[in-house]
Amino acid sequence: MGVNKCNYQIDFKQRRIQDEFWTPFQKLVKNVVVPYQQAVLEDKIEGVEKSGAIQNFRIAAGLAEGDFYGMVFQDSDVAKWLEAVAYSLELEPNTELEAYADEIIEIIGKAQQPDGYLNTYFTIKDPDRRWQNLQECHELYCAGHMIEAAVAYYEATGKKKFLTIVQRMADHICNRFGPDKHRGIPGHQEIELALLKLYRATGEGRYRDLAGYFLDERGTEPNFFAEESEKRQWNHFGIDPEDRLYAQNHAPVREQNTAEGHSVRAMYMYTAMADYAAETGDAAMANACRALFNNVANKRMFITGGIGSTVEGEAFSIDYDLPNDITYNETCASVGLVFFTRKMLDLEPDANYADVMEKALYNGVLSGMQLDGKKFFYVNPLEVIPGVSGKLAGYKHVKPVRPGWYACACCPPNVARLPHITSKICLGRNR
Ligand SMILES: [Zn+2]
Repeated sequence: MGVNKCNYQIDFKQRRIQDEFWTPFQKLVKNVVVPYQQAVLEDKIEGVEKSGAIQNFRIAAGLAEGDFYGMVFQDSDVAKWLEAVAYSLELEPNTELEAYADEIIEIIGKAQQPDGYLNTYFTIKDPDRRWQNLQECHELYCAGHMIEAAVAYYEATGKKKFLTIVQRMADHICNRFGPDKHRGIPGHQEIELALLKLYRATGEGRYRDLAGYFLDERGTEPNFFAEESEKRQWNHFGIDPEDRLYAQNHAPVREQNTAEGHSVRAMYMYTAMADYAAETGDAAMANACRALFNNVANKRMFITGGIGSTVEGEAFSIDYDLPNDITYNETCASVGLVFFTRKMLDLEPDANYADVMEKALYNGVLSGMQLDGKKFFYVNPLEVIPGVSGKLAGYKHVKPVRPGWYACACCPPNVARLPHITSKICLGRNR
């Protein structure tokens, strides 16, 4: 089959959701979740995991003293929150929130290095080891989230400063990676879908082409992660570079037809593949997307739209292995499934994609946040056993109660940025 691209466009800014379910949810995110997460990222909430994410930018910018705090991908929490802010401002202007976001963007600009590089972990802790460990250190992943945030902020406010910052960063990445440059693929996919958004925001084809390069370089020989590991001789997490399924690095993406490995990485990659196929008319890429969708939807997805049924590697396992009580079902994976199915609808108007998108949105994603907007699930089981879940071996990942934040906080800001995207999903192309 070829690519039957949908050709409809609706101006999101002209439309509003008026719905008994989603309107209150969008208000909750705007009025509660966005301010709550701002306070968490600024370390102003007692009794939850420390974030340090905004302070890291202040330190990297030379505006504060101290050490980097948190995960190697801590920057992405700030980026996803800023993206949520952008959607919030699009729904309802808020001069105070916008002034604060501008201040954070100013700090991000100051944390950027003269060559365009932007990542607080390496800038503060390990500047000599930039770009040496793509497999484990998430530099491209953080860059992707920063790009998504900047594009959203530009579209919401018309202000170009953030977009200019990420373009300098993207150009730095373009100058480094690609055919006839350094070989490379991200350990955690995300940059691919972000570069496609940046391409559409700027019209610069080099961003689309680099997204295509990162997609097509994955799964090729020799194994990039093994080569990279051999060369650098140091590890961050200790992820096995030969575990090729984990990072969807087991086959060229056009030849992949079952959902394998880390489920969030898989979803972000499939999202980019579907987007790239719709954007370029690439029929082989579109066919791979259809096969991957069918495998997920028919054999590897829970009735809730939850995916990634094993805690081992936060990953897909095998067809029909869908255990209610020990499943993983990361919130971010269902968020990713919403993105993937939305892009499949851009590729072709098939109701199966909309059905799965709706299932994931109403169930797999929303279970990730408590109704008050201040507590979050990372893991979303279908069954919780008091005294067993969260306690016994094999069940420790299944928390019976939602915490207020996480040391690895990928999920909460992913939920924060989703309800606003929902408007774009329902009303037109999320592109
Ligand atoms: Zn997550």
